[in-house]
Amino acid sequence: MNNRKLEKRLSDVETQLDDVWFWVFIVGLLLGFSVLKFGQPSSQVSSNPTTTATTSTVTLDKNAPKFIYPLPQKVSVSSGFGMRTHPVTGKQQMHSGVDLGMPTGTPIYAVADGQVESARELGNCGNGVRINHSGGYMSVYCHASKLLIKQGQSVKSGDTIALVGSTGMSTGPHLHLGMKLNGEWIDPKKVVPLE
Ligand SMILES: [Zn+2]
Repeated sequence: MNNRKLEKRLSDVETQLDDVWFWVFIVGLLLGFSVLKFGQPSSQVSSNPTTTATTSTVTLDKNAPKFIYPLPQKVSVSSGFGMRTHPVTGKQQMHSGVDLGMPTGTPIYAVADGQVESARELGNCGNGVRINHSGGYMSVYCHASKLLIKQGQSVKSGDTIALVGSTGMSTGPHLHLGMKLNGEWIDPKKVVPLE
């Protein structure tokens, strides 16, 4: 009798244990499912910033010219594109191009084929040149000591368009090279091989 009772008890405990494992199994399934369900979107979210980063960089279309270096010799950029404390005014200002230090009289080359939009005194830019290129690009050259081309003229990539100087708002002889794409300033470093 006692044995029988014990047996029944044991089998009861066994079914209870089975129940426990059943629920452990269900909870495990649910957990696994929720990880799958909610884990994936979060990994998609984390991949989003890379997508935005690639779209925010300048994408060169097929018609974009192949730009060349604007000087006979490569020099390091003495002041880059972006916000900076202006060397003359001392104020926080947008620097719309890159500065390349070079002695007065050094030839400045057109960075690509194009049409001269202006070649004259351009305020802070000093003696400046603006050239329109294919693909919506415009290159700007500032502080020249001498201009060697005229408005409306066609230029070829590598043509000498001006000589380095320190005219306009400048602290020493250098070329300020600016680049516009569809009317917006862009970092010339993105299209011109400056490094
Ligand atoms: Zn500059």
